[in-house]
Amino acid sequence: MNDPVFTVAAQQGNVADRMGRPLRDLRISVTDRCNFRCVYCMPKEVFGKDYQFLEHKELLTFEEIARLARIFAALGIEKIRLTGGEPLVRRHIEKLIELLAAIPGLDLTLTTNGALLAKKAPALKAAGLNRITVSLDSLDDAVFMKMNDVDFPVARVLEGIDAAAAAGLAPIKINMVVKRGLNDQSVVAMARHFRGSGHILRFIEYMDVGHTNGWRMDDVVTAKEIVGAINADAPLEQCDPNYRGEVAERWRYSDGSGEIGVIASVSQAFCRDCTRARLSTEGSLYTCLFATAGHALKPLLRGGASDAEITDAITTVWRKRDDRYSEIRTAQTVKLHKVEMSFIGG
Ligand code: SAM
Ligand code: SF4
Ligand code: SF4
Repeated sequence: MNDPVFTVAAQQGNVADRMGRPLRDLRISVTDRCNFRCVYCMPKEVFGKDYQFLEHKELLTFEEIARLARIFAALGIEKIRLTGGEPLVRRHIEKLIELLAAIPGLDLTLTTNGALLAKKAPALKAAGLNRITVSLDSLDDAVFMKMNDVDFPVARVLEGIDAAAAAGLAPIKINMVVKRGLNDQSVVAMARHFRGSGHILRFIEYMDVGHTNGWRMDDVVTAKEIVGAINADAPLEQCDPNYRGEVAERWRYSDGSGEIGVIASVSQAFCRDCTRARLSTEGSLYTCLFATAGHALKPLLRGGASDAEITDAITTVWRKRDDRYSEIRTAQTVKLHKVEMSFIGG
């Protein structure tokens, strides 16, 4: 790829991969645990009572995460997203946010299922979190409970969203994964609810992450179908991306009442612009959401390696990167033993 923006980034010292993609974003999974069992992510049959989650000593400490974040920032990372599992179940997460917020020039954000948000929003903001994304798959309790599979009610997620807005974490992004036959009938109601709220609702195509969610192409409701359904209810116009590599395609309501996003990771792959690295809960670096293996950084962290040695290790991995899974997805790749999203970080 010879995109001038990417070439300049590489010339400015940002490490580039084999396809010329700089390292710009880092997603950090702070826990592999979650208080939900979403059927498309951590199905109960697999993540049941006997499931072996990581022990606390296996997780990176907040100091280790912050050290890596500083190293990544020096390599050109501009944005960090905390994720999981459910990041708000990691105890004292606001202490990690404080450490990361001290790194100059970083956009710091977090994705949550919202269950603990009403309680935690003020502390997250006070610790230095810039923005937040809340996942919500339906406004219909019966549908939502079927999806989160722990009988969690919609109203409490909405309370979390309100608390985050009141704490100053707005504009808030709302993520809705759409799975055919499960919540596709909730799309228009969700769009109507958030239209004019100032929050940005983003629809995500259901993906074959991990190897346990039983994904089938037939279950994917495409971005085109989603935009078509909303446009029939309230006319939409496509807008320009905010920046090169933006994951969501943006659409605004013609009457000026706000915008929505669609993340067409299955029907319109965007690997050529993918500048994201992922740090798993136990400290391995992954260069793709659909990776089957990572690169362990924890032995370096705990074995006395210098920042320069860790920088070298990260640079070596990124320079070799040629991932473009979504562009080459086939019935065969779907069966690969990919790392679970709750572990690698969504
Ligand atoms: N627990 C937090 C949450 O749900 O927001 C953060 C982690 S979750 C893995 C991150 C995002 O990935 C959520 O918005 C979730 O809906 C999305 N996600 C999980 N499984 C998915 C799948 N199979 N396809 C598409 N998106 C998925
Ligand atoms: Fe938990 Fe988020 Fe996965 Fe749902 S999508 S099971 S809330 S990690
Ligand atoms: Fe990036 Fe991998 Fe997703 Fe492609 S499939 S956009 S390389 S994470």
